[in-house]
Amino acid sequence: MPFPRKQTRKKRRQFSLHVKLPAQYVRAKFLVIYELDGAQKGVNYLSRYYRVVRLKLFLDGRRVPRKCCGVYFGNRAYFTRAGLKRRVVLHELYHHLVEAKGLEMSVRIEEKEANAFAREFLKVRPL
Ligand SMILES: [Zn+2]
Repeated sequence: MPFPRKQTRKKRRQFSLHVKLPAQYVRAKFLVIYELDGAQKGVNYLSRYYRVVRLKLFLDGRRVPRKCCGVYFGNRAYFTRAGLKRRVVLHELYHHLVEAKGLEMSVRIEEKEANAFAREFLKVRPL
């Protein structure tokens, strides 16, 4: 009896986002602006790129729910001191893009996509 050939498990790298990831050079430029001019300037750059109203960042941990690093509502993102890092900023920016572009999706999908957006965004070669 022929033994079934073991299926090699394909890594699921494929994903689709409702908001497209910017090109490599835009991502690299964001990282440079972020390092040199700070998080707000970096987010301004991406807001212009996506042609949406500017997302305003606030360092205010009292607004952030317990066990969270950041939270988004109404064109504003709030961060704890520990939460103000690129991955979290990009995650909250994704929520902003979804809202600004009027996209409809479930909370679960949006959270998943926000995480994927931040993760894939940061896979970038330096300029
Ligand atoms: Zn989120």
